[in-house]
Order: sequence, then structure tokens, then C-alpha cells
Amino acid sequence: MSAKLIDGKQIAAEVEAEVRRECEALASKGVIPGLVAIRVGDDAASEVYVRNKAKKATELGLNGTQKHLSATTSQREIEAEIDRLNADDAVDGILLQLPLPSHLDSKALLDRIDPRKDVDGFHPVNVGRLQQGRPCLVPCTPMGVIRLLESSGIAIGGCRAIVVGRSDIVGKPVAALLLHRHATVTIAHSRTPDLAGAVREADIVVAAVGKAMMITGEMIKPGAAVIDVGINRIEYGFDKLDRLGEAKRNAVLTKGSALVGDVDFESARSVAGWITPVPGGVGPMTIAYLLKNTLQAAKDRRA
Ligand code: NDP
Repeated sequence: MSAKLIDGKQIAAEVEAEVRRECEALASKGVIPGLVAIRVGDDAASEVYVRNKAKKATELGLNGTQKHLSATTSQREIEAEIDRLNADDAVDGILLQLPLPSHLDSKALLDRIDPRKDVDGFHPVNVGRLQQGRPCLVPCTPMGVIRLLESSGIAIGGCRAIVVGRSDIVGKPVAALLLHRHATVTIAHSRTPDLAGAVREADIVVAAVGKAMMITGEMIKPGAAVIDVGINRIEYGFDKLDRLGEAKRNAVLTKGSALVGDVDFESARSVAGWITPVPGGVGPMTIAYLLKNTLQAAKDRRA
């Protein structure tokens, strides 16, 4: 048996087409949703992420801009910037790109963003509303996970699901979203006894750990849907190189590195019913839902 591949690029393109259509409708009423991404310091990965988010926003008919602040900017100065954006009527979404330089208190800064403009869904008001199943801005990657399952016709209600990882950004919100859709949800973490046994009971496995290829085919229930959130760069010398497919192994051997998920894709795909690749699975969904959230925020503030 070989699992069906869930194509995150294609499903993200569907979400983006929905956003583009709705932006066109809003534009005819004179509204262009505005997204501002704040980046502090010179983290190279953050620069690429923020640039891509702003570019995609503009492509879909939103107004995507970035505010770049130097690595020495103080907590007070960033608070003042957030206050200014909170008060700016042209701004519907504010995103604070993490990680921040270590002298800054990122939790306090995230808490300062107006919950109505919190398009990452990290503010305690949105977190609480999500737990209660009330309308809110939902974190983007978790929403992307749900959309991948739903677009693939995978029934969530009544199934057993396991989320491996309990971060505020991915694990906990994914678990809440699955629970609201009537799955019986286990949340596993670094102190879960018999992880393999727990994973083997699940019809849906969401891996959000950050440990390359730790969920193997032997742990997966035949026919299960496997959603791999993890993004790990592996290099020559990685101890599971022999478990990689040919293309990835060649990439490591010729280019020195490759991206893999938290799932051992080759062994899992021979057992699972559905599986997401890395890259090209969950990754593209995150940006698509950031822009969908910005559109949602723009509509909600004008409702
Ligand atoms: P965190 O590091 O915040 O959380 C990792 C979680 O995994 C923790 O809850 C930790 O448990 C758990 N964990 C660690 N080791 C084990 C283990 N051996 N067995 C079981 N659980 C374990 O990571 P994030 O949630 O932020 O991200 C997870 C992965 O998803 C990363 O690879 C990240 O790069 C990727 N990611 C991808 C995104 C995308 O767009 N595709 C977006 C966001 C993240 P404990 O709490 O006990 O420490």
C-alpha cells in the first residue's frame, strides 16, 4: 500500500484564490486589507519569511508592508510602534516576526497587539476564544492542518487523533481545532510514555515536534492520515540518511543538506492512507491562512 499524497501547494493555491476573490469584492467597496509585518534585527530566515509574506499579500490584493527595526530597538520603542499600528485604521493585521532579539519580552509585545488585528492568533483573547469554540483569529499553521484534512475528504468527527507536540503555536491549537470537530484527541509531548503505542492508535497523526524523522512507519496505524508540520534541515552525517528517498539522499550528497519533516516519510507512506510531504505540505498553508486571517480581520472590523 502507498499513501495518497496531500498536495499542500495545490490546496494553499485554492485558499489563496478564495482570498483573492474576496479582496476584489472588498476593493470594489474601497477597502484594501492592510498587513504590517514587524521585523526586529537581522535574522536571515526572518527576512525571507517576512519578504515572502508581504509579497504574497500584495499578489492577492492586500496591502502588505514590512516595518524593519534595528536589533537594538528597545521594548518601549516597539510597544510605541505597536500602539501606532493598533490605532491606524488602514492596518487590519499586525504580525510580529519571531524570534526577537533576546533583550525583548516577546510575550509582552504579542499581548500588546490589538486582538482584532492579531492575525497570528497568538493573543490570549484569541487563544481563550479558540478554546471555547467562539469566533476568533485562529493560528495559521493549525488552521492549515485542518484544511489539508478537510480538503482531502478525511473524516475528523468520531476518529482518534494524536498531536505530537504541545506548543502554543502549533500543538495546542491543532488539538483544540480537532476537538471542536469531534475527534478524540491525545496530545503527546516529551514526557509521554510509550509514544509509539499512542501514535499507533490514531486515525489522524499530526507531528509538530521539530525532530527529524522521529515518527516512523512502524508507529503508524495502517490507513491513518499523517500530517507532518515539522521542518528540519539535515546535513551530511545525519544518522538516518539510509532511510531517505533517492531524491533527498542525492540532495544531501550533492548539495550538503535537505529539508525533512518529523515523519520518516518513506517508511510512513507504505503504511499510511494519506501523508503530507515536506516541503510542500503544511508549509504553504501557513502563509495562505495568514492572508485569509488578515482579510477576516478587515471584514470583522467593518462589520
Ligand atoms: P516547539 O519546540 O515549540 O515544540 C515542540 C514540541 O515537541 C514540545 O511540546 C515538545 O515537548 C515536543 N517534543 C520534543 N521532543 C519530543 C519527543 N521526543 N517526543 C514527543 N514530543 C516531543 O516547536 P513548534 O511547535 O514551534 O514547531 C514544531 C515543528 O513544526 C518545528 O519543526 C517547526 O519548525 C515546525 N513548524 C512548521 C511550520 C510550518 O509552517 N510548516 C510553522 C510552525 C512550526 P515538551 O513540551 O514536553 O518539551
